[in-house]
Amino acid sequence: MASTKITPPAIVDSVLGTSILCSTIGNTPIVRLSAAGNKAQVELLAKIEFSNPSGSIKDRVAQRILAGLEAAKKIKSTTTLVVPSSGNLVISLALLSPRHGQYKVIGLVAERTSEDRIQLLKSLGVEIVRTPIEAHADAAESQFSIAKKIATDLADAILIDEFADAANVEVHAQETAEEILIQCEGRLDVLVVGVETGGTITGLAKTLKTKIPGLKVVGVEPEHSSIQDGVNRSSAWKVEDIGGNFTPSILNKSLVDAWIKVSDQESYSTARQIIREEGLYCGPSSGSVVAAALRYSESLSKETKPRILTILNDTGRNYSSTLLSDDWLLEHDLMDEAMAQSVAYHRH
Ligand code: PMP
Repeated sequence: MASTKITPPAIVDSVLGTSILCSTIGNTPIVRLSAAGNKAQVELLAKIEFSNPSGSIKDRVAQRILAGLEAAKKIKSTTTLVVPSSGNLVISLALLSPRHGQYKVIGLVAERTSEDRIQLLKSLGVEIVRTPIEAHADAAESQFSIAKKIATDLADAILIDEFADAANVEVHAQETAEEILIQCEGRLDVLVVGVETGGTITGLAKTLKTKIPGLKVVGVEPEHSSIQDGVNRSSAWKVEDIGGNFTPSILNKSLVDAWIKVSDQESYSTARQIIREEGLYCGPSSGSVVAAALRYSESLSKETKPRILTILNDTGRNYSSTLLSDDWLLEHDLMDEAMAQSVAYHRH
């Protein structure tokens, strides 16, 4: 006989339906990172956004953007979507498109994006244009300028700009934040979020700060990234999906209490540690976020065991040639001492 304690989700028509109510997008679990949290004497939590159908948080955004464009009758089933992105939004749009229309997708993808994700995009029929990481957003060769030109030159094409689209904030303010409030029963001291477009951090902070007085919100970017201060400098970091060389227009910096920069080595080592110790198959930006949460926790009083929530945005499975490759990590000097020793030991 079935146990009365089990309440599995109801049957849905499609993993990628047109809203959160008729798909398996959203309603992601929160897991306690016990190994890392216990060491730091905090309650460290992680919202597992890689349990979305395509393996990243961007399914939420893609669904919201398409639904908005369709409701406003701004696209036809034959429209080409032109998408400048570090990768995950293009994957989500390509997966969702056949459930919505017959949209063709052109992805403007930075040279930093892993070969694994490029293969994934190709298998979904996405036309890919690689763009230089050094180019400033305003430069003619930046992914934004090229995307704008393609969208203008091509008949029946539309630019999907997640860096400026209010839907990228609202979906998190309305859905992701509401889930967190319920899951955490309104009790949270610190929220730590990786930032690229600023959609996640702005949307979550907007709702959660009004509902949880005193909540501190921490933004995370790679070393050398200029999102917080807007100073144009080298873009030569390796961690994908966070950071940038300008401040996106949807990012509301006044909602962010502190910024933390994390090095490539710390990010990759921490991501591998989370996979190994917590059994959570996360990507490199999740390593940056957990490393930042642990650093921030050092400044907190431990008397009441502060509760810190991190958002783990995508799956490590999309990084088998980088994050999951010992050789790639060694070649780029991205292992910490303990990890390098353990790899050397297992190779004997
Ligand atoms: N981590 C991953 C894996 C992502 O795909 C993104 C979005 N590019 C982020 C972090 C940053 O989120 P946001 O764009 O909402 O700032």
